[in-house]
Amino acid sequence: MNAERRVVLITGASRGIGRATARMLARQGAAIGVNYVSDLAAAQQTADDAENAGGRAVLLPGDVADEAAVVAMFDELETAFGGVDALVNNAGIVAPSMPLAEMDTARLKRMFDVNVLGAYLCAREAARRMSTDRGGRGGVIVNVSSAASRLGSPNEFVDYAGSKGAIDTMTIGLAKELGPRGVRVNGVRPGLIDTDIHASSGHPQRAAMLGAQTPLARAGHADEVAQAIVWLLSDAASYVNGALLDVSGGR
Ligand code: NAD
Repeated sequence: MNAERRVVLITGASRGIGRATARMLARQGAAIGVNYVSDLAAAQQTADDAENAGGRAVLLPGDVADEAAVVAMFDELETAFGGVDALVNNAGIVAPSMPLAEMDTARLKRMFDVNVLGAYLCAREAARRMSTDRGGRGGVIVNVSSAASRLGSPNEFVDYAGSKGAIDTMTIGLAKELGPRGVRVNGVRPGLIDTDIHASSGHPQRAAMLGAQTPLARAGHADEVAQAIVWLLSDAASYVNGALLDVSGGR
């Protein structure tokens, strides 16, 4: 798969790790589907950045937990760029830090709807369109998990950690299911990355504060996760399938 003709759908690409990945891929000439859920201005900024970096971009509105919206975003991407070569399952949410006993059911449902169901719906759509046994041209999926999947995040986000555990298991299963069908599937597990997601946890400075406790003594940057995603998407990782790559500074 040549970088020049790579068409990549990135969910949750209006900011953070998704935007950083879009910019980096665009520098290689990729065509990017910029999915966003509500912030059109931010998504437009990602698309502008991608085009200024030498790539192409199309805006794809939609909540990843909405089946019809997911189908529509893949349809629009294929209409714009003639196919799809890769999916970055990046959209994700956290919620205020608290023990499980204090979490209400609506929160738990939304956490699993976005982080798990959303990732599955997008992966299913990618599998249907990229699998060689279904007439597809093969491809790559990168799932953005979290170091939380192996840390558990007690007293803070056991729901989030569990949702990312599901992503890890999905990655392992789909690598085996889709590998023979021409689609590699891998995951990245970021640690504490300095993005806006931490505002939703009630601790906007969480990454900066806790980053000092990591072996590399700092929080990571979105670009440092994007580098790993871009590598997993690339032909340089042509024999990497089913891997869960920690990008956590050793946390
Ligand atoms: P972010 O909040 O900046 O980005 C998340 C993106 O997902 C946003 O653009 C948001 O609008 C989008 N999104 C949320 N719900 C959506 C939905 N229902 N449909 C479509 N898009 C939706 O945070 P980030 O740090 O860039 O997070 C990206 C991914 O990295 C997430 O999956 C997150 O869980 C994971 N991650 C982040 C960290 C960290 O410390 N920042 C650590 C581990 C894992």
